[in-house]
Amino acid sequence: MKFEPLHKWLPAGSSPLVISGPCGAESLEQLMRTALELKEINKVSLFRAGVWKPRTRPNAFEGRGEEALKWLAEVKKESGFKTTVEVANAQHTELALKHGIDVLWIGARTTVNPFSVQEIADVLKGVDVPVMVKNPIHADLQLWIGGIERVYNSGIKKIAAIHRGFHFYGKTKYRNKPLWQLPIELRTLFPDLPIICDPSHISGNRDLILSVAQKALDLGMNGLMIESHYDPAVALSDAEQQLTPHNLNELLSKLVLRKQNSDDPVTTDKLIELRKIIDEIDDELMNVLKKRTQIIEEIGKYKKEENITIFQLERWQEILRTRGQWADKMGISRQHIEKICQLLHEESIRIQNGLMNS
Ligand code: PEP
Ligand code: MN
Repeated sequence: MKFEPLHKWLPAGSSPLVISGPCGAESLEQLMRTALELKEINKVSLFRAGVWKPRTRPNAFEGRGEEALKWLAEVKKESGFKTTVEVANAQHTELALKHGIDVLWIGARTTVNPFSVQEIADVLKGVDVPVMVKNPIHADLQLWIGGIERVYNSGIKKIAAIHRGFHFYGKTKYRNKPLWQLPIELRTLFPDLPIICDPSHISGNRDLILSVAQKALDLGMNGLMIESHYDPAVALSDAEQQLTPHNLNELLSKLVLRKQNSDDPVTTDKLIELRKIIDEIDDELMNVLKKRTQIIEEIGKYKKEENITIFQLERWQEILRTRGQWADKMGISRQHIEKICQLLHEESIRIQNGLMNS
C-alpha cells in the first residue's frame, strides 16, 4: 500500500495537526458554538462530531442522524471548518457523502467487523474522500490493517489510522489501554501511513489527556483527535473526557514539540557516538545469550538422558524471585527483568522440547 501524505489532504495550521469537536452532534447551537470557539483558538484543522453514536447500552444518546449532517453543513459554511463524522455502514456513508462531509472515519466498533468495513468500502469505490480508520476495540493489529486494506482496495489513498486504545477487562487508569506497541508496529509495517492519536478515548477523563497526547507526539504520531464541547458538563455523551475549546487551547500550548531528527551536527554526533556504544552492548548481549543457549542445550540433553521433565516449577519460581531481587538491588525495573526472564524461559522450554523429542 502507498498512502498519500497527510499534509496533502489535511494541512495543519500550527503543528501538531489537531482534529476536534464534540463526541456527539446534539443540536445546531451546540455544534455552532463549539466550532466558533474552536475557530478562535486557531489550532484546529478539522471539525469532528458523531452523528450516529454506537452506544454500549440501548436508550443512551444515539446521535441525531441525518438532521445533524445538515447542521454540520451550516457549521462548515459559518466557520470554514472542514468536517468529519463516523460512518458505520453503507447508508451512513452514502448520507455523509450526500451532505458534503469532507472526511469520514470508521469507529472502533466497526473496524472489528469486516462485513461492515467492506460495505462502507464498496460505497467508496470511485469516490475521492479521505478515510480515517480507528483501531478495533481489542488488540488485533491484523484486523486494524485489514480495515485499512479494505478501504485502500476501494481506491482511496488518503487514509489515516487512528489510535484510540484497546478494551481491557480489569482495572486500569485508562478507559482504553494505549498499548503503544501496536501503533509502533503499524508504523514499522507501513511507514508512510499517517497515524493520529485519540487521547480522549484512551483517557476517558480530562486529567490524562495531556500526558497521553504528549506521549503520542513523542512516539512520532502525526496528529491528535481530541473531543471538545462548549460546555462538557451538559454533554450527552463522554462528558468526563471532553474539553472546552479554551482548555483545549491551554492543553495544546503545554505540549512539547520535539523534532524527528536534529539538524545540529553536535547533537547528531553525540547520538551517533551513544548509538555505537549501544551496538557494542547489544553485541555483548548476543554473546551472553549464545552462551546461555549452549548451557540450556546441555541441560536439555542431560534431562533427556536422566528422563527428567523439562519444566521444573521450583527452579522457575527461584529464577523469578532471585532475578527480581537482583533487579531491585541494581536499580533496574523488576517488571522489565521479569518480562525478560519470561521470554528466556519460553525459549529454554522451546529448545529443550526440541531436544527431548528429536
Ligand atoms: C468517537 O470518536 O466518538 C467514538 C465513538 O470513538 P471510538 O470508535 O474510538 O469508540
Ligand atoms: Mn466519544
